[in-house]
Parts: sequence; structure tokens; C-alpha cells
Amino acid sequence: MTTTRFAPSPTGLLHLGHAYSALQAASFAGQFTDRTAGGRFLVRIEDIDVTRCRPEFEAAILEDLSWLGLDWERPVRRQSDHMDDYRAALDRLEAMGLLYKCFHSRKELDDALSAPHNRPMMGPDGPAVTDTDALMPEDERARREAAGEPYALRLRMAEAVRRAGPLSWRDRTHGEQPARPEVFGDVVLARKDAATSYHLAVTVDDALQGVTLVTRGEDLFQASHVHRLLQALLDLPVPEYAHHPLLVDPATGRRFAKRDRSLTLKALRESGVSPAEVRKRMGF
Ligand code: GLU
Repeated sequence: MTTTRFAPSPTGLLHLGHAYSALQAASFAGQFTDRTAGGRFLVRIEDIDVTRCRPEFEAAILEDLSWLGLDWERPVRRQSDHMDDYRAALDRLEAMGLLYKCFHSRKELDDALSAPHNRPMMGPDGPAVTDTDALMPEDERARREAAGEPYALRLRMAEAVRRAGPLSWRDRTHGEQPARPEVFGDVVLARKDAATSYHLAVTVDDALQGVTLVTRGEDLFQASHVHRLLQALLDLPVPEYAHHPLLVDPATGRRFAKRDRSLTLKALRESGVSPAEVRKRMGF
């Protein structure tokens, strides 16, 4: 039985691109096609970024999904309610000696990395940072630690990859993928401003919720390399992946984004468009 999910961040209203992603996931669980297949469709609220997430967006998202005719399992998991789960995963990685503290601010890191002798490779999320300890004098690091300054926790990528050995994951569209998490460098697993990061929270949640098929946009395809590594390190089950193409607005030729206010589901609803019309337009 397939268990899949739609995992929006409540940082704005849903637009047609989100509707497509949610409909795609729900249809993999048998909604609109074969209800008897008994698939499970979950909605997860990804709200670890407290500065950008708002309860009113969460309420609006659930209202929009309901209007669209989707039916998901309750209760909805909200990431901010589950920080202990992410902490437990971090403790485990810490005990394996795979984490280190990074005290750099974004600007300090950018400055250090733009020095000619440091030029790192570009990874999918920006420069593939490795060993930020080497970029800060030991006494400065000790001073910041003693002063209780905030730090991010980074994964010792090279060591993690060495311990995990060769890994792969399966994408429904693109087939078997050899995992290449090393292109990300030492990814952040706990941010300075949040006790986890996207990569860690998503991987832990998909496992805890029994997700067997991770449905999401192609913009997150690369992230799956990191998630596969975390699954191996944390002994988590490995789901299948379905990265769908991102919907493009025919009027502008650009992909839908939160800035395109007129195309929010709320705006469409208020202008009299029916959910059936939206579903038809998306091919469901
Ligand atoms: N919360 C992420 C987003 O809104 C999606 C995460 C995922 O599907 O893995 O872009």
C-alpha cells in the first residue's frame, strides 16, 4: 500500500503549483482514481522556520486543500510539535561523531569562502562547505563557544559517506539514482535559529509517518541524495521518490511561485472558479 504526502511550509497561500503537487500525491494514494486501492495520503505542515511561518497560513492551506476536494489522514503532523524527534536523530549522529559546531554567520562564511585559496565547489544549495573549523582560528571558536554564541550543526560529509558506503534511491520518473550527497558538502542539520534543518526534519518525518512514496517537485530532486544518506546513517526505511515537473504559468512562462498572488487558490476560489475546474486544468 502506498503512503504518500504533501508537505507545505505555511509561509504563504497555496498557488496552482502547490495544487498540482497535492493532487499528484493524492492521486498516487488512489484519490480520484481508485479509492479501493487503499493508499494513504498525508498532509504535513513544515513550520520549522518560525520567522516565516504563520498559523493563519496553515489554516488557509488546509482550507484550500479541503476546497480542492482532497481527503487526508488526521491528525496533521506539524513539525514544530516534534522537535524532540529531530533532537533524538541529532543525538544519534552526534554519538557517531558525525556532527560539528559551526559558529560562522552566513556573511563570515561567504567572505571566507570567496578568498581565492578557499574557493569551494558549488553544490546544489550553494558552496559545498567542508570543515568550517579550518576557516576560523581555534581561539575565536573557543571564545564564541564559551560566550554561548549560537551555532549550526553540520554533518561531517566525507566521513558519513565513507561509513554509509555506496547508496542509491529510486525515482519513479528517472529510475535508480546513485546517491551523491557529497556534492552538498557538510550540510547543516540543525540551524542556528532552529533546532533542526529541512533535510533532517523531512527525512525523520517521512520515516516516522511510514511514507513509502515521497511526492514533491523537481526543485527538490537533489535533496534526495542527502536524505538517502541520512536514512542510511539513522537506519531508516528507504521510500521511493516521485519528483514531478514544476508547473509553469502559460501567461509568463515562469514557474508558479508565492509572489504570483493572483494565482493563489484563494484568489481563484473568490473569482468563482470551481475546484473541479482547477482539478481539470491540472489533469485530475
Ligand atoms: N516543505 C517543502 C516545501 O514547501 C517541501 C518538502 C518536501 O516535500 O520534501 O517546499
